[in-house]
Amino acid sequence: MSKYWEPCPRCNSNKVTTTSKAMQLFVMWFLAGGSMVIGFFFWPMFIFMVLFLLATPIVLFLPKSNVCGECKFVWKVNKKKALA
Ligand SMILES: [Zn+2]
Repeated sequence: MSKYWEPCPRCNSNKVTTTSKAMQLFVMWFLAGGSMVIGFFFWPMFIFMVLFLLATPIVLFLPKSNVCGECKFVWKVNKKKALA
């Protein structure tokens, strides 16, 4: 269990997962890869692939966020709470 973990503020569910930077990075590469495949059939998608690849380092500066498994609510992790 992550130290950033906290119950869902909307529905109080315990089915909360913290998105990791590695996971977000993986999603960006997945989107870039998907755009590349589509780009073979529809060339403008190559532009999105380049944009996704260029945007990948931005993920490293994004704050951690929690996602509720019950209501799909996404919220930023309270850093003060996480440090406590
Ligand atoms: Zn919820």
